[in-house]
Amino acid sequence: MKTAIVGAGAMGSLFGALLSEAGNDVWLYDVWQEHVDAINASGLQIEREGVKRSVRIKATTSPENIGQNELVILFVKSTQTQKASAVARQLAGKTGLVLTLQNGMGNADVIAESIDPTKILAGTTSHGATLLEAGGIRHAGVGPTTLGAWSTSSAGLQNAQRVAEFFTTAGIETQAVDDVHSVVWNKLLINIGINAITALTGIKNGQLLDLESTRDISRTAVEEAMAVARAANVRINEDAVKHVLEVALATAANRSSMGQDVDHRRQTEISTINGYIVQEAGRHGLDAPVNRTLTALVETLQFHYK
Ligand code: NAD
Repeated sequence: MKTAIVGAGAMGSLFGALLSEAGNDVWLYDVWQEHVDAINASGLQIEREGVKRSVRIKATTSPENIGQNELVILFVKSTQTQKASAVARQLAGKTGLVLTLQNGMGNADVIAESIDPTKILAGTTSHGATLLEAGGIRHAGVGPTTLGAWSTSSAGLQNAQRVAEFFTTAGIETQAVDDVHSVVWNKLLINIGINAITALTGIKNGQLLDLESTRDISRTAVEEAMAVARAANVRINEDAVKHVLEVALATAANRSSMGQDVDHRRQTEISTINGYIVQEAGRHGLDAPVNRTLTALVETLQFHYK
């Protein structure tokens, strides 16, 4: 399945490399010239558990070099989804599928503004990666990937199954599901309970557990989000509050992705995480004061980056 990755940072490079190492025709597309040049000159450098390898893979900043693809995977940060969708549309042509495994909610809906919704797949991945330098990433964690059709149809489920099989054959263990909205929501609940709090306070994920007052903010933010999910008739994990604390413990030494964004003075994905809950709470006549406060504080922080 000829594949193009749009946004070849930590995760895009990782998925591109794993698919390419399995013998598939893969292109990386990114706007970051230095990164693309480094990959083309010396290969993509991947570090995993202290072991380094170099993967030869085609990279470009010009989508016209790539041609049409059966699968386009969007791996930009959610702040760039709209811009990246225009390129994804060009790379997918009339028949290609477009998959988002980005964090946050709303990415698939933004993609659907420029791409036929029946061609859109969405999902989550528990793989973790960090961008080390131009041309170099760390594969920080391995875990399952789940995907499904964003708009329900029998063709959509078949497409999801085809892509899941394609990934699994390449060593990316993947399951296709028929209710991917629920999967994306459950990942959102975890991000809601961890990301903004760790980003604002500078703590690592595990430190969220140390104080009752910190756990209380996390719990209330997640409960507000669960109320919104129920109002939207989304099936969610009713043990989400407990699950957030389990994830914080399992990833105790990690800094959340939003924490890393703040550390590097990058725009965060707050508007598609806690900000999404504030917006959807309003639509359903609910209030989400803790998510509203977390969103406002992160927005304030990033507005005042030097
Ligand atoms: P990243 O910042 O490492 O990579 C994003 C890449 O997109 C960068 O290389 C950037 O140059 C590129 N880019 C920016 N604008 C672009 C545009 N208009 N067109 C093409 N490329 C563009 O981010 P990441 O950590 O790989 O995360 C990508 C997504 O995956 C996010 O939604 C994130 O939340 C999600 N995610 C990340 C992880 C992780 O461990 N890093 C795990 C699961 C999900």
